[in-house]
Amino acid sequence: MLRAGVIAVQGDVAEHAAAIRRAAERHGESVSVEEIRTAGTVPDCDLLLMPGGESTTISRLLAEEGIDEEVREFAASGKPMLVTCAGLIVASRDAKDDRVATLSVLDVTVDRNAFGRQKDSFEAALDVRGLDDPFPAVFIRAPAIGEVGDGVEVLAEFDGRPVAVRQDNVVGTAFHPELTDDSRIHGLAFFESD
Ligand code: GLN
Repeated sequence: MLRAGVIAVQGDVAEHAAAIRRAAERHGESVSVEEIRTAGTVPDCDLLLMPGGESTTISRLLAEEGIDEEVREFAASGKPMLVTCAGLIVASRDAKDDRVATLSVLDVTVDRNAFGRQKDSFEAALDVRGLDDPFPAVFIRAPAIGEVGDGVEVLAEFDGRPVAVRQDNVVGTAFHPELTDDSRIHGLAFFESD
């Protein structure tokens, strides 16, 4: 039985938990999902998800609870990790905003709320490397990825900007892969590691 952790200090947790369960089932894995609000659980997880929400709040609460260092160590351990939207912002090297203490577990910079006011929220069928058919990607006040380090593979682009990346065991998306029934991104990140 795999132990999955979903950081639950803020943001959509239940939808990610359901997507992890669906992806695990498709891959013939059994998984228990735990919501993480305090330090002490992350090190015991086999896979970890940091969801969207508000990156300034998530970053502050992670530091207050002492979970920030555990997330950094988890990423360095090589176990699979998925970070989405605000989670991607917190995981990045630089969010160009002093209120976000980034964890530098993904060697990318991000631009918060990059797709403009008229496009606050939208859905796009994205070609994603590793998936056979386009993925229905829901963007909500989404960041775009700016600089991409040498070890980072771009998995998808929208409007000419990277919106999904992989660096070794860490996958990051600017969109919300938990908001449709399609759990292929969770599968790609957690159960199809290279
Ligand atoms: N705009 C949010 C931020 O900058 C992210 C939005 C999201 O996670 N849907 O933190």
